[in-house]
Amino acid sequence: MADYNPQAIEKKWQKRWEEKRVFESEAELTETQDPGTHSVPGAPFGKTQERQKRPKYYVLEMLPYPSGTLHMGHMRNYTIGDVVARVKRMRGFNVLHPMGWDAFGLPAENAAIQNRTHPREWTNKNIAEFQRVLRRFGFSYDWRREISTCEPEYYRWNQWFFLRMLERGLAYKKKSRVNWCPKCCTVLANEQVVNGGFCWRHEDTRVEARDIEQWFLRTTAYAEQLLEDLKELEGGWPERVITMQRNWIGKSVGARVQFAVADVAGAGKIEVFTTRIDTIYGASAIILAPTHPLVGRLIAGAGNQAGLEAKLAEMKRSSVKMEDIATAEKDGFFTGRNAVNPFNGEKVPIWVGNFVLLEYGTGAIMAVPAHDERDFEFAKKFGLPIPVVVRKKDSTTEDTESTEKGLNEAYTEYGVSVNSGAYSGLETAAAIEKMAADAEAGGFGKKETIYRLRDWGISRQRYWGTPIPVVYCEKDGMVPVPGKDLPVLLPAHPKLTGEGQSPLATDPEFLNTKCPKCGGPARRETDTMDTFVDSSWYFYRYCDPKNDQAPFASAKADYWFPIDQYIGGIEHAIMHLMYSRFWCKVMRDMGLIAHDEPAARLFTQGMVLKDGTAMSKSAGNVVGALDMAERYGADTGRLYTLFAAPPEKDLEWSEESIEGSWRFLNRVYRVVDKHAADGRGISDISDQISGSEEESKDNAEAQRVAEEDKRKRTQDAPLQTKGGAPSAFVKVGELREKEKGLLRKAHQTVRRVTQDFETRWHFNSAIAQMMELTNAIYAAEPLEENLRPEVRKEVLELVTLMLAPMTPHLAEELWEMLGHSDGLWNASWPAFNPELAKEEEVEIVVQVNGKVRGRVKAAAGTGQEDVLKLAQTEPGVAAHLAGKTVRKVIFVADKLLNIVVG
Ligand SMILES: [Zn+2]
Ligand SMILES: [Zn+2]
Repeated sequence: MADYNPQAIEKKWQKRWEEKRVFESEAELTETQDPGTHSVPGAPFGKTQERQKRPKYYVLEMLPYPSGTLHMGHMRNYTIGDVVARVKRMRGFNVLHPMGWDAFGLPAENAAIQNRTHPREWTNKNIAEFQRVLRRFGFSYDWRREISTCEPEYYRWNQWFFLRMLERGLAYKKKSRVNWCPKCCTVLANEQVVNGGFCWRHEDTRVEARDIEQWFLRTTAYAEQLLEDLKELEGGWPERVITMQRNWIGKSVGARVQFAVADVAGAGKIEVFTTRIDTIYGASAIILAPTHPLVGRLIAGAGNQAGLEAKLAEMKRSSVKMEDIATAEKDGFFTGRNAVNPFNGEKVPIWVGNFVLLEYGTGAIMAVPAHDERDFEFAKKFGLPIPVVVRKKDSTTEDTESTEKGLNEAYTEYGVSVNSGAYSGLETAAAIEKMAADAEAGGFGKKETIYRLRDWGISRQRYWGTPIPVVYCEKDGMVPVPGKDLPVLLPAHPKLTGEGQSPLATDPEFLNTKCPKCGGPARRETDTMDTFVDSSWYFYRYCDPKNDQAPFASAKADYWFPIDQYIGGIEHAIMHLMYSRFWCKVMRDMGLIAHDEPAARLFTQGMVLKDGTAMSKSAGNVVGALDMAERYGADTGRLYTLFAAPPEKDLEWSEESIEGSWRFLNRVYRVVDKHAADGRGISDISDQISGSEEESKDNAEAQRVAEEDKRKRTQDAPLQTKGGAPSAFVKVGELREKEKGLLRKAHQTVRRVTQDFETRWHFNSAIAQMMELTNAIYAAEPLEENLRPEVRKEVLELVTLMLAPMTPHLAEELWEMLGHSDGLWNASWPAFNPELAKEEEVEIVVQVNGKVRGRVKAAAGTGQEDVLKLAQTEPGVAAHLAGKTVRKVIFVADKLLNIVVG
C-alpha cells in the first residue's frame, strides 16, 4: 500500500492534462463541409459556419497585476473560479476559463527605475513566475488564450478604441483641475482618490490639485444608462456593489434655486441645488464650498477678514472628499453676509462649510436643519435655528406638541408642508412640483437632474502604458493618428526618472513626427493611458486573442458573452467595474456587441487574513503559494481555502486546520487504495454473486445500453447538461441493510453537494458533507464483508467524482486506481438516485405564543424560513396568526417552531 504523495501525483496529472489539452474550450463556431458543393480542400467555399451548440459557460477571475509573489490570499480567488469551471465542465458545458496579465502600470516602471532594468523585462519575469505558480496549482485555464496587456498586439486596440471614441465625441481634451499624486508623479482619476484625499496606491500620500491639460473619456454621457442597467444586475451582483455604484453615479432629481446676495453690491446670486425645494421655508443658512468662487468676495471687507481668510485656507488644506462627506467632522464659519430667500424675502446667513463640494451640484447648498440629517448636525453644532416646515401626514396634536419643543433628529420623510406660506397643507410630492414650477415661472430657479459621476480622466504622465494616438501640428492642430499607422509603439529605450513629465516627451525620436494631414512637422502626444483602459475590455479579447483585424470578432463575443460568473475583489466595485460597464455600452453603440452588460454574475470573495490582518507583502504575514504546494501539495492548499470559511467571508489562516484538510485527503486516499486493490478483482467476485456467465453478459449488455442511451441523450438534446451515475446504479431493492445505509448517505451527499456547488456556493459545507461520508465509509469497515463489490465501487466513485472540482489531481489518481483508464476529465458530474437521496422526514411542533397549534412534516435540516412558510399553511396555525403581526420566531431545528405574535 502506497502513501498519498501529492508532489508525484500532481506533477503526473498536470502533465497529462496538458498533453491531452483538456481545458481548451471548444470553438464558438464550427466549420462544417457543405455536402452540396465540391470544393478544393481549404478553400473558403463549401463551408458553412455553425454556432457551437453546446451551452457555454464563461467563468473568469479578474486578471492579476503581475508583481510580487503569489500567496494563498490570491490562490483562494483562483481556486473558487477553478471549482466553478470544473463543475461546469463535468455538467456538460463548453467552458471558457482564461487567464492573462494586467501588465502595464506604475509599479513596473518604479521597480525598473530602482533595479535599473526595463519595465518590460521586470514585467515578463513576473509573468513567468505567476504562470509557474498557477500551473503548479493545477488551475484549468485555456492557456492558448493568454493575453498580456503590455504587448503591442493588445494595446493597439486600446488606441483603436480611443480613436473611435474621439470620432464619436466620447474622448476629449481639456484643461482642468486634477488630482496629482506627488509619489506617482501622475494624475489620478476621481475614482483613484481614496480615504478623503489620498492616493489609492499610496495611502499615506495626500493628493494635490493641479491644473493640467488632460484627456477625458465621457463616462457622464452614459450616467443614466449605467444607473438604469444596474437593475439588470440585481440578483446576479452583490447588493453592496450595486449600492456603491449607484451612490457613485449619484443621481439627484431636484431643482436649482437662486438666492440673491443681500449685503454685497453686485455679488449677484448664489445658486443652490436641492432635491427638497418644498423645505425652502425652513432654510436657516446657505453654505458654500470653501472653493466656491464667491467666497473671497464675500469675506473681503467683512468685520474679521483676516481671521476668516485664515480659517478658509485651513479648510481648503484639509478638504473633505466626496466619499467621506457623510462621515467627516463638520466644520464651517459665518461669512458675515446674508442672502435672500426668493420665496419669502427673508434673510438667510451665508456660511462656508467643509462638507460642501464645488464638484457636485453648484458648490452651494441651502441648509434645512429640520429635514436633513447633515444640516441638523451642522445647526446643532453652530447654534442655527431649526424651523419645522414638514410634518408627518396625519400627525396628532401630541406629535405637533413634541415637535414644538424641538426636534431630537431631522425629519427627512415626506409629509405635509407647514409654515410654508401659500404652500402649507400640500403633500410633499405636490409641493415639490408646484414650488419648482413657481421658481421657474418667477425666473429664480428650474427643475434639474444632476449626477455625481465625472468624466474619466485617462491621461497619465508616465512611460509604461498605452501611448495616446494623436499628434499636434502647427497648422492643423490636434490630428488623430490614422488607423493604418497603429500601433503607435512605445519607444524601446526610455529615459526613466520617475519625475515630473512623461518620459515620452524626452525622447526626440518618439516625439517628432510628421503630420498625417499636411506632412509637415508635428509632435506626438506624450501622455499614456490609465491602465484601467486595458482592463476595461480585456475579457472580450479572450474570445479572440490572436485577431489582428479587429479587437475581437463580434460572432465570438456573441457566443461567449455575457460572462456567466466574474470573480474578484470588492476593491474593484467602483473603478474597474464601472469603467468596464461603460466600455461595454460604448462597444454596443459602435455595433461591436449586442448586449448591455459584460458580466451577468459577480462574486466578491472574502480576504485571507493571518494574525488578524489581510495577507500582504507589506504586512509581512504572507504564506507563499509555492511553499504551501511544497509542504502539503496544491490539492490540500485548494481544499483548505475552500473549507476554512464560506467564500464570501474573510478567512483566518490556521496551520492546524490545514493539517485537518491534509488528514482528510489522506483518509480518502487510503480507503480507496485499500479497496481499489482488491477491487481489481471485483469482476471475479461479481461473477460469483451473479452466478452464470450468461448473467454477467447480460449485465455488460445492460451497461452498454445505458452508456449508449446516455451518449444519445447528450447528442439529441445538446442544451441539456450532462450528468449521470458513474456507472449504472445498484438496484435499491436488492440491497442489504448496511449497503442501503451507506448508499443512502452517499446519494444524499451528492444531492447536497450538487446544491452547494450549483446554487449556494457553500463549498465549505460541501466539503463537510464529504468528510462525513468518508467517516461513514470507515464506519462500514470491513467493507469487503459488509458491501458487495459493486456497492463499494459506487460509493468510492461518488466520493472521487465529488472531490474532482476541488482536489482535481488526487481525484484523477483515485479514478485511475478505481480502474478507469480514460481520465476523470471525461467523466460527468454524478447524478443521485432520488429514491435513495430522499432526506429523512421529521415532525416539527408549531406553537403560537407558546401554545401548540399544529405539526408540520419537513426534511431533516430544513431551515427556519422554510419551516415558517410551511407552518403558515397549517390551518390550525394560520387561524391564530390571522390579523396579527409576527414579532419574533423561536426555532429549534427539526423540533420546534414558536411564533410570537402581537
Ligand atoms: Zn500615488
Ligand atoms: Zn498638419
